This record gives sequence, structure tokens and C-alpha cells, in this order.
Amino acid sequence: MYKVLSGREPAAALLETAKAAVAGMKRKPSLAIVLVGNDPASEIYVRKKMEKAMSTGVLARLEKLPESATEEELLALVKKLNKDKNVDGFIVQAPIPKHMDYSKIVDAIDPRKDVDGWTPTSMGRMFLGSPGFLPATPAGIIRLLEHYGVKLAGAEAVVVGRGNVVGKPLAFMLLQKDATVTICHSKTKNLAEHTKKADILIAAAGSAGLIKADMVKEGAYVVDVGTNKVGEKTVGDVDFDGVIKKANCTPVPGGVGPMTVAMLISNVIEAAKQQNPG
Ligand code: NAP
Repeated sequence: MYKVLSGREPAAALLETAKAAVAGMKRKPSLAIVLVGNDPASEIYVRKKMEKAMSTGVLARLEKLPESATEEELLALVKKLNKDKNVDGFIVQAPIPKHMDYSKIVDAIDPRKDVDGWTPTSMGRMFLGSPGFLPATPAGIIRLLEHYGVKLAGAEAVVVGRGNVVGKPLAFMLLQKDATVTICHSKTKNLAEHTKKADILIAAAGSAGLIKADMVKEGAYVVDVGTNKVGEKTVGDVDFDGVIKKANCTPVPGGVGPMTVAMLISNVIEAAKQQNPG
């Protein structure tokens, strides 16, 4: 009765648009992905990003550093990529080893090449509503909701999670779309009281099965951003089997993930156009 909000179709549409744009460009856009260490999940995400990028004609190259690399070595690689004329945009795949300060690394990325939209400059532009690279996951979520015809203006939107990568930027992007936004976090008293009011509920806490059917309003749109390893399985923050009987919901996998990848590739094409106009 309620819709499974698959990300695969809207992501495929975005990738088709990307492919057509790349076909019309004399110089092919290029993406570099920095991967530090051997985190198995990161290796899968990076492979997917590279494959999808190449499927649109975007050139993709992997820059690997060992787990034992120092922060200085990673910073040196970031600076090299900032200057590399053959790289239009790059990302440093998170997480990085614990002995490195991620915010220091992100700070060093040239905002013109910040296709993940995570630098303070990109975040500041997003906050002010000025043009710039939007963070890929929140931008993908907005696109997914729009694809399913969800009315954002005037909607009660509740975002569970205030992380810098998803919760915080997404809350501001929903606000810019004229939703009325509540942000919940681990210190929120009576989470269900807030979630039950949501027309649009975003779960971005990284806590498996946190959102149960009795916490969701009938007919709501629920977006599950969580990717949690439970044994061999990857599960979201939402109890999908329970919630789908009551509301529209994204699956995990196949919901937000494909949208994140597609938005990243759109950002690479935009970066290439901006750096090589004409
Ligand atoms: P994060 O920075 O660790 O933030 C998690 C947030 O959730 C924090 O604000 C935390 O509150 C809140 N939280 C944790 N447990 C909670 C609970 N029981 N009730 C209410 N709030 C709770 O994580 P993130 O980087 O934003 O990522 C969130 C999830 O999205 C993760 O599972 C991540 O793997 C996933 N993700 C998926 C994609 C994708 O493309 N599919 C992309 C990025 C991230 P406090 O601030 O109070 O600690």
C-alpha cells in the first residue's frame, strides 16, 4: 500500500543526464578518490563510486595510502591534488585512520574541487543559500523526495541525527525548501514525540532499528540514511518491515546510497565545467 522509495531509479536518471553532459564535453571530467587504509566497507563504496563515474564517461582514479600513512602524508596528497590540472574534483573517503584529524584534511581541500561538499567554504555557501557544491548525501535525499513528488514546502520535517555530513546540512537544505524542521539527537528527550509529528522523517543516527513503526505518522515519508553492520548484513536506522506497513520508506541498501553516488558524479561534472569553461 505504501511506497518503497527506491533510490535506484532517480539515481539512474541522474546518471543518464550526467552521461549526456559528459558526451557533449571535449575534455572529460575527472575524479580522484583518496582511500587511506583497508576498511572493507570503504573499499566497496569507493569501487561503486569509481564504476558509476566511469559508466558516465567521467575519468576516475584511485589514490591509495596505507593505514600507517601519517597526517602529513595525507595533507601532502591533498595539496598535490589541489594543484593537479588533470583532476577536476576529489574526495577523501571517510573514515580515515584515527590518528588523523579529518576536519584538518577537509579544510585543506580546494573548495573548487570539493565535490563531496564538505569543506567549510561549501558548507558556508550551502548555509547562506549561495551557489556551491552541495554535500552529496543530503542533496541526493532532497532529489529523491522530489522524484517521488513529496511536497517539502510547509511539511513538518524531523531529522534524527546532527552529524556534519548528513543531519546538519540536510536540516538546512530542508529549511531552504520551506519545510518546518526539527533536529533530534542523542540527548533529545522522548524522540518518538517528535518523530510522530513528521510528514518527512529522516533517520541519520547510525543506530540499527532505532525508528520503529509506532514512532512514525501514518502516510509519512521516511528516509533511512543509516548504514549499520549487523553481523554480515547492512541495515538502516529504520525497522523497514514494520514501517512500510504504515508509511513510505527508503530501503537499505538501494535507497540513499545510489543517490549519494549520483550526486557526487553530478558535482564532478559541475567542477569540470567551472574549471574549464568553454
Ligand atoms: P554521526 O556524525 O556519527 O552522527 C550521528 C548522529 O546521530 C549524532 O548527531 C547523534 O547524536 C545521533 N544519534 C545517535 N544515536 C542516536 C539515538 N539513539 N537517538 C537520537 N539520535 C542519535 O553520523 P553521520 O556521519 O551523520 O552518519 C549517520 C548514518 O548515516 C551512519 O549510519 C552512516 O553510515 C550513514 N551514512 C550513509 C550514507 C549513504 O550514502 N547511505 C552517507 C553518509 C552517512 P549526538 O550528536 O548527540 O551524538
